[in-house]
Amino acid sequence: MVISVAVPVPLFKTFDYLPAEGDQIANYKKGQRVLVPFAGRKLIGIIIEVSSPVTKSKLNQQETFTLKHICLRYKEIPALSERQLELLSWASYYYGHPIGECIHTALPSLLRKHISEKNRSQQTLSTSKWYRTTKPFAGKKNATKQIAILEAISGHHHGIWLDALKSMGFSKAQLNALEKSGYLDSKSFDPLTAESEISKNIEKNSVSLNPEQVNAISEVFLPPSPFKVSLLQGVTGSGKTEVYIECVKKVLNKGQQALILIPEINLSPQTLARFQSNLDTPIGLAHSGMSTKERLSSWQLSESGVAKVIIGTRSAIFTPFKNLGLIVVDEEHDSSYKQIDGFKYSARDLAVKKAQLENCPIILGTATPCLESLHNANSGKYHLIKLDHRAGLGVFPKVHLIDIRSRALENGCSRPLLGKIGEELSAGNQVIIFQNRRGFAPTLMCNSCGWISQCNHCDSRLTVHSAPPHLHCHHCNFKKAFPKECENCHYTQLSPIGSGTERIEAGLRHHFPDTKIWRIDRDTIRKQSDMKNVIEEINQGDPCLLIGTQMLAKGHDFHNVTLVAVIDADSSFFSSDFRAIEKSAQQLLQVAGRTGRGGKPGTVLIQTRKAEHPLFAPIIANDYESIARTELKDRELCELPPFSKMISIRADSNIQSEANSALQELSSQLSQQPNSNNNNFQISGPIEASIARKAGMFRSYLHVFVSDTASRSHVISLIAHNWSSYRTGKTKLQIDVDPIDYI
Ligand code: ADP
Ligand code: ZN
Ligand code: ZN
Repeated sequence: MVISVAVPVPLFKTFDYLPAEGDQIANYKKGQRVLVPFAGRKLIGIIIEVSSPVTKSKLNQQETFTLKHICLRYKEIPALSERQLELLSWASYYYGHPIGECIHTALPSLLRKHISEKNRSQQTLSTSKWYRTTKPFAGKKNATKQIAILEAISGHHHGIWLDALKSMGFSKAQLNALEKSGYLDSKSFDPLTAESEISKNIEKNSVSLNPEQVNAISEVFLPPSPFKVSLLQGVTGSGKTEVYIECVKKVLNKGQQALILIPEINLSPQTLARFQSNLDTPIGLAHSGMSTKERLSSWQLSESGVAKVIIGTRSAIFTPFKNLGLIVVDEEHDSSYKQIDGFKYSARDLAVKKAQLENCPIILGTATPCLESLHNANSGKYHLIKLDHRAGLGVFPKVHLIDIRSRALENGCSRPLLGKIGEELSAGNQVIIFQNRRGFAPTLMCNSCGWISQCNHCDSRLTVHSAPPHLHCHHCNFKKAFPKECENCHYTQLSPIGSGTERIEAGLRHHFPDTKIWRIDRDTIRKQSDMKNVIEEINQGDPCLLIGTQMLAKGHDFHNVTLVAVIDADSSFFSSDFRAIEKSAQQLLQVAGRTGRGGKPGTVLIQTRKAEHPLFAPIIANDYESIARTELKDRELCELPPFSKMISIRADSNIQSEANSALQELSSQLSQQPNSNNNNFQISGPIEASIARKAGMFRSYLHVFVSDTASRSHVISLIAHNWSSYRTGKTKLQIDVDPIDYI
């Protein structure tokens, strides 16, 4: 008998081993972790198959003789379940990525490492529930945190889970102190035996759902089969989150679990808090902001069926479940679901596959579905459910354009815009200023000769940052001091051109000196707690200015924002990306959706130099559907996705000609294939990437468009088969199936 093991190496095969010396073959199971000798190293691998050499006829006696023994078998339950292995094998095949590396990406990082038996601390699975006692609060009146904790807990008569309290911003220490003073009680549960306590969840919803929402919920679970993909297209503020929560409650009542994927957890602590305060059940989190121990713990809690709900970002898709009953992918169009390095999977698409394997329903929710999902809905593959009205007090904002062609701008803002901001602030309202560019200015130019500061390592401009003054490459992170003179003509007057969030902030501080201003971008928000603090402040409702990048545009539910200003709508239209219009429309409608949510009417002002652009009329009418219809027609005409499948191969080399010639060779191999003349696939390129040199490497692309599944697998397997030869030499090839980042 031999044991086939997948190891994290860039090769499309598994490797055969014999059981560890003195160990019996019967102890070896599919999905188990083992430590194996590999090319002079020891690697953690996963057992893919245990089989006899008879069934593996390719293996002759001689080879069996030279097989090495496994070093160590880890005695935990299999690290990967049968269904997880199935999902990963499918992903390896679909994305043309080596199985060992796919598995390595999927495992929590503590399981990727060897930790010796005696250093391995037992994972603690215990979790606690907190209750309010009857003792009236006799503390200080200004002990606001303590009062807030007691209020949050007293609403939950069956107690509330520690995780939920933590997500509301309360710490274990604060809870312990209140317990000591007799205001709180806590009970620890050994989750493995606390099944009955844990299933007593489900509290009544605080809002009564409207008929559209009620209908949406019932459609998700309509027969025939449990597996069903529902595309929930609900305009911003239509109450999609409430729909998700109700659907989750339904599956919890059946004793099943739910997986909720959200685009970026650091940016949406609010969404998280809404789920956690509405679902009285242990919730596991899975995102990159957690410690390795915490991640392993929620993986185990979910696998054993204790955590009933897992909320996480992209990689949470690999979490194992005991009895999964529902998957929700919120903001399904969001590009952060696609991993862009290494194993380039789409968590949204894997979620659909996972739902199929687990035979459960899945909801893809968004106001602005990606065209792939809409196409699947149009063709009947997905079931379309619509929410056309805002829920509760929300009303749609009025959208107006400000033509800035002939207007002077003050740090990015036009006069009419500044006037309207002033009006809203003095009426006690909050204003969002959106500019998807951080830093002070995107360009530094010489006033005499027109020289522009460039990165030393990339074909790109350096962004000006003001605090402290320096130049920064947003592509490779190269930084340098602010130059004293032009590198070309030595003239000393250099001007920042254009406006990033820093410059807009500086301008508005000057203009509105007495107003509270928050800047929300990657430079100011570094940790989850930073965002949480800002959101808490904003939710107080005091008039303020919020300036931010797309971080500010996503998912937030601020009730006192009455004006959203878009500083520059044009830059995103003009890109060589065939998805430019789709992405711009999604972004503009998402940003616009941040106002008019709390009962006060909202306004959106968009500054543009292209007021006649055909995209604006449907944006003003909040009509994503007509934009999507037009785009889909164009894509069909040009045979672009979703009417074809796209596979991109990128070559990186430190020698310019080599990146191209590697792709040239691949291209000619592909075109020599027998069915390449049947128009089943088309090759475009090699072409240079739009940033042809990045961090010192020259980059070129070859794009292959295939029209059917058979030629898709054919192209991928051809590339995969020749994988090792492509990896040799100075050129590195990477394959990206269904790419979103290919320019
Ligand atoms: P979406 O996720 O579609 O943007 P949300 O679920 O955030 O929408 O809902 C927007 C706002 O409307 C929230 O403040 C929410 O509490 C409120 N809301 C949702 N459904 C209802 C309802 N049926 N009745 C009253 N208010 C609701
Ligand atoms: Zn110059
Ligand atoms: Zn650079």
